[in-house]
Amino acid sequence: MPAHSWEKMLKQSGHKHGKLLKILKHNKPKERKFGKGARRCERCGRYDGIIRRYGLYLCKDCFKEVAHELGFFKWGE
Ligand SMILES: [Zn+2]
Repeated sequence: MPAHSWEKMLKQSGHKHGKLLKILKHNKPKERKFGKGARRCERCGRYDGIIRRYGLYLCKDCFKEVAHELGFFKWGE
């Protein structure tokens, strides 16, 4: 399961409040300060293939989709 969809797990089963807190305590992913887990795509939330150059912070797929609008003519059609 990708780290960003861990909240889905909570919705899948109806928990009581106490149990929910316990599940949060033991399963909530750590807040990362650096590394891959700290950077997400601003558009879709993906963790891999992030382009940080020029402060884009987009994943490779989102970049391809919006490249032309941003002014990267080699990538757009
Ligand atoms: Zn993306």
